[in-house]
Amino acid sequence: MAVKNPSVRVRFAPSPTGYLHIGGARTALFNWLFARHHQGAFILRIEDTDEVRSTAESVNGILESMRWLGLDWDEGPVYADGVAGLPEQSLGNKGPYYQMQRLKFYQDACSRLLAQDHAYPCYCTPDEVDKMRKIAELSKRPPKYDGACRGLTDDQRKKKEAEGRKKSVRFKTPQEGDTDFTDLVRGALHFENNLLEDFVILKTSGVPTYNFACVVDDHGMDISHVIRGEDHLSNTPRQVLVYRALGWEPPQFAHLAMIHGSDGGRLSKRHGATSVREYKEAGYLPAALLNYLALLGWGTEDSQQVFTPKDMIEKFALERCTKSAAAFDPAKLLWMNGEYVRKTPVPDLAKIARTAFASADSKALEGAIALEREKIKLLTDIPKLVDFLISDEYEYRQEAVDKVLRVAGVGDILSDMEKRLDSLTSFDSAGIEAAIKACAKDRGVKNAAVIHPLRVAVSGRTEGPSLYHMIEYLGKARSLQRMKKAQSLLAAGKI
Ligand code: GLU
Repeated sequence: MAVKNPSVRVRFAPSPTGYLHIGGARTALFNWLFARHHQGAFILRIEDTDEVRSTAESVNGILESMRWLGLDWDEGPVYADGVAGLPEQSLGNKGPYYQMQRLKFYQDACSRLLAQDHAYPCYCTPDEVDKMRKIAELSKRPPKYDGACRGLTDDQRKKKEAEGRKKSVRFKTPQEGDTDFTDLVRGALHFENNLLEDFVILKTSGVPTYNFACVVDDHGMDISHVIRGEDHLSNTPRQVLVYRALGWEPPQFAHLAMIHGSDGGRLSKRHGATSVREYKEAGYLPAALLNYLALLGWGTEDSQQVFTPKDMIEKFALERCTKSAAAFDPAKLLWMNGEYVRKTPVPDLAKIARTAFASADSKALEGAIALEREKIKLLTDIPKLVDFLISDEYEYRQEAVDKVLRVAGVGDILSDMEKRLDSLTSFDSAGIEAAIKACAKDRGVKNAAVIHPLRVAVSGRTEGPSLYHMIEYLGKARSLQRMKKAQSLLAAGKI
């Protein structure tokens, strides 16, 4: 989509340490909606500074899920045929869009902070820092780094270096005052600086930490609005302090309410599927998942539930994002998917189901799906809902056979119905219905006494689509053949 408004630039910044989760997808969606609503740019930045947990496979997985959901980005990695392109092939001119390719930006910003006394080298080992935190906790103080390296003289630094200690760089967090900012969802916020520690900005490896890299990149990429989960709210005052120390204007912030599972706890594996990929595999339509995600922490005044992407873009507003947690309700998502399935044209559903019925005739597959469409909630439901219509090798459910077919008089009814169906000149649902009713009337039985055995004979089961339409769909020859087969199997004691 053409970017017409250069003053709105938002980003989704996943860490490639796993699949795209529901929470991440919701953050991506809200950024995308905001960008598209304002005709601004949606940027995808890969935050791969976790040198141990970041993998190329996760990058591909995340991009694949974004692509599947239709969340297209204007700047960021290229992605084609399931593989992310090389960092240097990225889209956009504010790259690179992989943090590990941006180390020189962090080093430059860090040098500036060091030169202006907003940061200092720290030689403490992780064990020493752990100990400081424990001591602080024992004496009921916030468990912070105690500033051991804050006031070192040049000589003391040299001595530490001579001891072979590794150097990280810490931000010199102001010890007094407050950090305030206005969050577009949560309103005016206020944090006391003395609760924050002198946090590491550059690790001993020279790789930046999240809070530092994020600021350098959001500034470098001209990000206007940072829209992300509320779990990052406690990072924001740290980031604002870094912006100020560097003399940069912070972007606007919007922190989205967390997503909770049915028990009120933060959405996690124990609530079931949490990755976009699992929903794709389970048979959800991307449009349905996207629609459902949009309702997690946002809504229109009239509580509209079903949106086209265009509608969502038009109506999306950060002001209507909620402060309270959003409940993830799998039953509602399933319902939503059913709604979308019913809106999907039958030929499209047939195309999706094609893999399960490689040799079926297209029209036959479409006809079968049309008969069962109302019942489809998941795309993965389709094969089991239609297989007995497509293939004549369906199974006879034992309970149906025992209760409905193995009943005195059924053989006669079926033979009678065979004749009646055979003699129909126009084999349509109305003619079939009339023939069934006439049979019942002539034999002095209820309609149900004809309908039930006929259904089990032609399908092997007691449930399914409307019988008249099902027989019409099967056609005269297949219906008669199925009826004969059921009777002979029954006679031979094979069912
Ligand atoms: N990489 C961070 C995450 O995945 C990004 C947070 C942010 O949007 O600033 O949570």
